[in-house]
Amino acid sequence: MIYLDHNATTPVDPAVADKMAWFLREHFGNPSSLYPIGRAVKDLMNEARERVAGALGVDRGEIFFTGSGTEADNFAIFGTLEASPDRNGFVTSAIEHPAVIEAAKALETKGLKVTYLPVDAYGQISLDDLRSALTPKTGLVSVMHANNEIGTIQPIAEVVRIAHERDIPVHTDAVQSFGKIDVDARKLGVDLLTVSAHKIYGPKGVGALYVRRGASIRPFLRGGRQERGLRAGTENTAGIVGFGEAVHVLQDKGRQERARIERLAEALKRGVEERIPGARFNGHPENRVKSTLNFAFPGLEAEAVLLALATKEIYVSTGSACSEESDEVSHVLTAIGLRPEIARSSIRMSLGRSNTDEDIDVVLRELPEIIRRLKSISAFHPEG
Ligand code: PLP
Repeated sequence: MIYLDHNATTPVDPAVADKMAWFLREHFGNPSSLYPIGRAVKDLMNEARERVAGALGVDRGEIFFTGSGTEADNFAIFGTLEASPDRNGFVTSAIEHPAVIEAAKALETKGLKVTYLPVDAYGQISLDDLRSALTPKTGLVSVMHANNEIGTIQPIAEVVRIAHERDIPVHTDAVQSFGKIDVDARKLGVDLLTVSAHKIYGPKGVGALYVRRGASIRPFLRGGRQERGLRAGTENTAGIVGFGEAVHVLQDKGRQERARIERLAEALKRGVEERIPGARFNGHPENRVKSTLNFAFPGLEAEAVLLALATKEIYVSTGSACSEESDEVSHVLTAIGLRPEIARSSIRMSLGRSNTDEDIDVVLRELPEIIRRLKSISAFHPEG
């Protein structure tokens, strides 16, 4: 199989699987227990916390483990706004992941004022739009670091500078940038930052929120005193230990792998552009996570392309994994100005560690043939 959907999820690194299997066999204690088998688990969790913190350039005490990237996003948004009840404004972008967009919609139903910053044809927000959206009542700005569908990177450090001048905290969803570009929370200057383990060859069902020391936040989940009182619920201990190991592997071989993956992605991009007439690249030419490639094949349905590729055991996506089961047109592709029929003809290929030079050769052999065949069928059945 050729897996080109690493933005949806990544295969668990063998070192992560080994570490988790060892942990599950050897450690069952509750990290809240004060006797040795509980303390041992707490120590292993703190080792993982140290690794996540180190990779993000922050202190261990600023990392809070959650049950997913989605939960970390919700925690950041609801937790921060609840901590400043005198402020009723939330500013975000039009191309956020549903974990943020749906939280924003929920805020609107509660009567908060939400601004969705528009993006240009490449998926970038305008800093002038941001300036005009901010008011003394704005309680939080949340703009994603890199987009999951088209890879566009937002100017987060500038967003922070503008918001902080007005004393407004900033959250960024770094789920799709972590591991693919440098993510240093201190250099970005953000107050809150989300990451998720399963996008960096770790397990599913575990994420983390960086909360800058001194930032005001309330718990999102109510219950016990886990995670220093900010995230209730017995921790996904094996998941957290696996997350730590995934970060360890990332720091060990991530940079080298990143260069290799970017080279493969560039070869794939060039090949598609050269060999498929009419293929249209969606996204920023430069300011983009290079392993994410989104192409429209005008005149075709993306789903037909996806299914034809799947018969060759080549797996791609028609957008974010979360919208795969609905007929809705991608809000990201709509926001960059694509007409619905062009958005519906778009597929995403996201590369990662599992890919090889040979994979790219195979895709560049199969994909042009599939597109040619589908186009000849749709020309024969113009209504279909
Ligand atoms: N944010 C972005 C940008 C994502 O791509 C994803 C996952 O697709 C999430 C948040 C949600 O992370 P999780 O799957 O851990 O809930």
